[in-house]
Amino acid sequence: MQASRRNWLKAASGAAAAVPMVFFTQAALAAKNEAMRTSLKYKDTPEGNNRCDNCMQWVPGKTPKDRGGCKILPGDTEISPSGWCVAWVAAKK
Ligand code: SF4
Repeated sequence: MQASRRNWLKAASGAAAAVPMVFFTQAALAAKNEAMRTSLKYKDTPEGNNRCDNCMQWVPGKTPKDRGGCKILPGDTEISPSGWCVAWVAAKK
């Protein structure tokens, strides 16, 4: 096998191996912590004026309307800014 063909095959196999890692990484970024959601009775809708984006535990997403995280729901990146759970505590202003 010629050196250039061998190098091309090496590069191609490396690229092919990287594709599933990209999908895996994106899937890992959009994760839900279902066990904690259930125990905290999380829902995607507010409870009156109490919502995740005015809670002390809120971790904002990229923009104010994007889903974000919560300090007490580890690994969950799909918390709605207009969501709510029983652990809601008013954010300090
Ligand atoms: S504690 Fe509950 S209400 Fe507060 S940000 Fe987390 S999920 Fe939302």
